[in-house]
Amino acid sequence: MSINIPSSSLPRVVIAGGGFGGLKLAQELDSSRFQIVLIDQNNYHQFPPLIYQVASSGLEPSSIAFPFRSAFRRKGNFLFRLASVEAVDAEHKQLLTSVGPVSYDYLVLACGGTTNFFGKEQVARHALPMKTLYESMNLRNVLLQNIEQALVADHPEEQAALQRVIIVGGGPSGVEIAGALAEMKRYVLPKDYPGMDIDAFEIHLVDAAPRLLGAMSEKSSEAAARGLRSLGVELHFGKMVTDYDGLTLSFADGEAMRSRTVIWVSGITANEVAGLSAETLGRGRRILVDAHSEVLGYPDIFALGDQSLMTTDPNYPQGHPQLAQVALQQAKLLAANLKARLDGRSQRPFAYRDLGSMATIGRNKAVAEIGRMKWGGFSAWLLWLVVHLRSILSVRNKIIVLLNWVWNYITYDRSLRLILKRNIPVEPRDLHS
Ligand SMILES: Cc1cc2nc3c(=O)[nH]c(=O)nc-3n(C[C@H](O)[C@H](O)[C@H](O)COP(=O)(O)OP(=O)(O)OC[C@H]3O[C@@H](n4cnc5c(N)ncnc54)[C@H](O)[C@@H]3O)c2cc1C
Repeated sequence: MSINIPSSSLPRVVIAGGGFGGLKLAQELDSSRFQIVLIDQNNYHQFPPLIYQVASSGLEPSSIAFPFRSAFRRKGNFLFRLASVEAVDAEHKQLLTSVGPVSYDYLVLACGGTTNFFGKEQVARHALPMKTLYESMNLRNVLLQNIEQALVADHPEEQAALQRVIIVGGGPSGVEIAGALAEMKRYVLPKDYPGMDIDAFEIHLVDAAPRLLGAMSEKSSEAAARGLRSLGVELHFGKMVTDYDGLTLSFADGEAMRSRTVIWVSGITANEVAGLSAETLGRGRRILVDAHSEVLGYPDIFALGDQSLMTTDPNYPQGHPQLAQVALQQAKLLAANLKARLDGRSQRPFAYRDLGSMATIGRNKAVAEIGRMKWGGFSAWLLWLVVHLRSILSVRNKIIVLLNWVWNYITYDRSLRLILKRNIPVEPRDLHS
C-alpha cells in the first residue's frame, strides 16, 4: 500500500487530524503557496459540542459531521487520505501512517485528545465515554437498550441498576448530558413507557470536586446545580471513583452505587503519536510547543489544539484550556506564520483571545460567561443555540440541526430513539494514567 501523494514544486504541509485545528489550518493555508495533505482516521469532521445531543437521541450523527472531501471540493493543491497516524520519523521528515509513509516539509500534529480513565482498566472496559460520534451512538444504544431490559428484568435490584444512570464528571459535557437525559425522563419516557414507574429512572452526576463546572465561576456553577436539581438530577460532590465492574461503581470513601449505565466524561488525555522524545510531552501527554506552535526540539514539526501544550502565553502559563477556540485561533495564526516563513518575514507569537464559555443545562436554561459578564437563563440558552448553530459546518447541517431543535422544542420529544445495533463492539481504549 502507498499513500500515493503526487510530488509538487510547492512545500508540502502534512496535517495529522482534521478536527477544529486541522480543518481550520487546511482552510486557511494558501494553496497557491503550499501543497496541503490532510490525514484523518475518519472521512468526516465532527462537531464535539453537540455530541451529547446525539447520545440523548436529539440529533442524528450525520447532522454534526461533514465529509472532508465535500468540505475541500473547491480547494486546489489539497489531498485527503483516510488513514491512521502512527508515528513521526523526524530524521527522514516522514509521517508514518496506516497506509504508508508520507514525506513533509512541514508537519502539523492536530490529533486532539481522548478519554482519560486515569489507568483504571475496569472502568475503561465498562464505562461509556462520550468523545466521538461512534461513542455517542454506542451510548445511545446502551441507554435505550437498558431501559428496554429494565421492563423485563426479573430481579428488582437488576431492574434498579438498569434504570439508574450515573454520569462521572461535572464539567460542561457532564452537565449537558445530565440535563438532556433529565428532560428525556420528564417529557419522553412517560409517553413511550406508559406502564413504567418514571420516578424509578434515576440520574446521578458525581464529581470528585466540590462543585460543577470547575473552569467557570461559582455563580455559574451554582446556577447549573440549581438547574439540574430542578430537573431531578441527583448531584454528589467529593466522590472519587476507584472502580467500576459493569455493575458496581466504587468510591474512595468506601461507598458504592449500582448501575448498568455509567457515563464517563471525567478527563482528557492527548492522543499519542509515537516517535517524539519523552521530553516533548507535558501534562496530559500534550506535546510541548513554543509560541509559534513549533514542537520543542523539532524544527518544522508543529502541534495544535488539544494535542499541544503551550506555556509561553503570559495569561496561560500552565497552558491553554482544551477548547475549540484555542485550536481554531492557533490554526489561523499558524497558517499566517507558515506563509511568513516562506516570505522571510517574522512570525507572530500566539496569544489566546478568550471569547467566553457556556454550558447548557436544558430547555431555556444555560449559563454563559463573557469577560466579566456572567449570567444564566433563557438569554444565555438562546446565545448558546446561536453560537453553536453558527459554528456547525455546512448549510445543510445547520438547517437540519435547527429543524431538529425546533421540532424537539415544540413537541417536547426526541424522536431518534432507535437502537441500531445491539452490543456494539467497544473501540480499543487508552487507559492513560
Ligand atoms: C463531548 C465534547 C464536548 C465539547 N464541547 C465543547 C464546547 O462546547 N466548547 C468548546 O470550546 N470545546 C468543546 N469541546 C472541546 C473541543 O471539541 C476540543 O477542544 C477541540 O475539538 C480540539 O480541537 P483539535 O483540533 O485539537 O482536536 P479534535 O477536534 O479532537 O480533532 C482531532 C482529529 O484528529 C483525528 N485523529 C485522532 N487520532 C488520530 C490518528 N491516530 N490518526 C488519524 N486521525 C486521528 C480525529 O479523528 C479528529 O478528527 C468538547 C469536546 C467534547 C469531546
